[in-house]
Amino acid sequence: MLSIYDIISKKRDKKELTKEEIQFVIEGFVNGSIKDYQMSALLMAIYINGMNFDETYYLTDQMKNSGKTLDLENYFDEITIDKHSTGGVGDKTSFVVCPILASFGIKVPKLSGRGLGHTGGTIDKLESIPGFKTSLSQEEIIELTKKVGFVISGQTNDITPADKLIYGLRDVTATVGSVPLIASSIMSKKLAAGCKVIIIDIKCGSGAFMKDYSEAQNLAKYMIEIGKRANKKVICEITNMDEPLGNAVGNSLEVIEAINTLKGKGPEDFTRLCIELSVEAIKEAFNISNEEVVKRIEEKINNGEAYNKLIEMVQAQGGDISYIANTEKFPKAKVSIEYKAETDGFIESINATSIGLAAMELGAGRKVKSDIIDFSTGIIFNKKCGDRVDKNTTILTLYTNNIDKLDLALEYVKSAIQISSNKPSSKKLILGKIQ
Ligand code: URA
Repeated sequence: MLSIYDIISKKRDKKELTKEEIQFVIEGFVNGSIKDYQMSALLMAIYINGMNFDETYYLTDQMKNSGKTLDLENYFDEITIDKHSTGGVGDKTSFVVCPILASFGIKVPKLSGRGLGHTGGTIDKLESIPGFKTSLSQEEIIELTKKVGFVISGQTNDITPADKLIYGLRDVTATVGSVPLIASSIMSKKLAAGCKVIIIDIKCGSGAFMKDYSEAQNLAKYMIEIGKRANKKVICEITNMDEPLGNAVGNSLEVIEAINTLKGKGPEDFTRLCIELSVEAIKEAFNISNEEVVKRIEEKINNGEAYNKLIEMVQAQGGDISYIANTEKFPKAKVSIEYKAETDGFIESINATSIGLAAMELGAGRKVKSDIIDFSTGIIFNKKCGDRVDKNTTILTLYTNNIDKLDLALEYVKSAIQISSNKPSSKKLILGKIQ
């Protein structure tokens, strides 16, 4: 007879869990017979002692099967492609990449998550658009993907409910940055959706859960192995998260930046990453050269096709498109304060985790499960790594509705930014590709 106590003890003692034990845990947690405190202990044991490929695959498969599976590949004549990021700061690529892919006729039914730890979440960001519905049923996902080309929905009580529950618990129990837990969380959603190709943007660096390249490579290996066992093509791009991506960090601030990017007015680093990820996906669908794909993507941005796809998707998911058409309508935070350079020099580094924690403090993220996100809060950068600053140059502006939050947020910001007298060498945006 299986018992959660024995299973926790086994993982605590670095032993391998069986398929039956993992099934028992996931079923029990979803039906409520396994309690949050027991699951938290098990998650911590997994965080500390890891899981091998077999255990991680069983965990992924059980999480996938905790709800309905969509097998979307079978509903469309067009190629279905899914895209997911392992989590970073200022990472709003899905709002640009998915419309670009849809403008090429690729079907992108995407299941996303909320903020985890210091990183923002796609679903929270989308909820900053009034009326936007982030919880779609199986039928809605299929119907809207057919109609628009892409949808973005959260995990629901119907689809990967186990991930929904475990994700919320990991967020508040310091158990996010674990290879088997990240791999199973992401891949359970991707396998439940069932697209033909899965593109994973593995963030690597100070603002990512994977701090160095070898950890990122290890995560890629896990996700590719899960994909192989499930008969899916998984392509992992390892990308730089040593500083926040783009200039905006915080929910509606990031949505606005993504809209501007779809209009061809986005920050250089963010635009380049969105194009690179889109190229990878589009090459899976059509046999065309990199140069040709980039040219066509630029056309779809310049002629408004990609932007129109975003509008169509927001409308289809119940969002008020007047906010997309006129981003001035998004509420603004009441308090803003500029953070200025204390000396002349070059920005050497911006620790993205500290920036994520600053944004969280300002109201853009949750410290406990029940925290309510304040969508208009966050940070906008004027200067990024490698930029020259003089003493008193504004590096960034913090936005909040609660003035009491500023001191701690400013402390995080101050600790994040290093200025040096020499210009640092520029860092690569795409660090590697594994498939
Ligand atoms: N995104 C997810 O869906 N899960 C994780 O664990 C990390 C990022």
